[in-house]
Amino acid sequence: MTTHIQETSVQDSERAWMEKAITLATDSVANGGGPFGALVAKNGEVVAIGNNQVTATLDPVAHAEVTAMRAACKELDTFSLEGCVLITSCEPCPMCLSSALWARVDRLVYSADRHDAAVAGFDDRKFYDLFEKKPESMWPMSVEQLDLPNRTAPFDAWLAKPDRIEY
Ligand SMILES: [Zn+2]
Repeated sequence: MTTHIQETSVQDSERAWMEKAITLATDSVANGGGPFGALVAKNGEVVAIGNNQVTATLDPVAHAEVTAMRAACKELDTFSLEGCVLITSCEPCPMCLSSALWARVDRLVYSADRHDAAVAGFDDRKFYDLFEKKPESMWPMSVEQLDLPNRTAPFDAWLAKPDRIEY
C-alpha cells in the first residue's frame, strides 16, 4: 500500500467520523442537549461518542469533547488518549482544547468554526481572546478544520428549536 492510498483512507474515515459527529450534534438538540457532538477514534475505530450535556445535566463543563473523552477513557480503561483522534462538530473552546492536550490526544479535527457557533448564540470568542495561542507548529497535537457542507446543520436545528435553553 502506498502512502498516498493510506492518506486517502485516513481522510475518508475522518470524513465519515465528522458526518457522525455532526449527526450527534443535531440529534443532541432534539434530545435536550446543546448542538455539539464529538467522538474519539483509535486505530481506525470509533472508541466513544459524546454530545453537549451542559443544560441537561447542569454541568457547565459537559461539552461534547469532554463527554466523548471521558467515555473514551472509560472504554479504554486509561487516562491517556495517546494515539487517539478527537473529531468534533465545532471548533473546540479553550477548555476542550486544554482538556485534549491534557488527555494527550494526537490529533483534533473540527468542522464548524467559532464564527458559525457565534451565529447560533454560542460566542466563545471572548474566551479565545484571553488565551494567547502559541504558533501551531509548537503544539504537540495537530488541530485541523474539515469543512463539510453541512457543518452548520446542528446550529440550524438549534435555532429552529423554539424551547431551547440559551446558555
Ligand atoms: Zn468546549
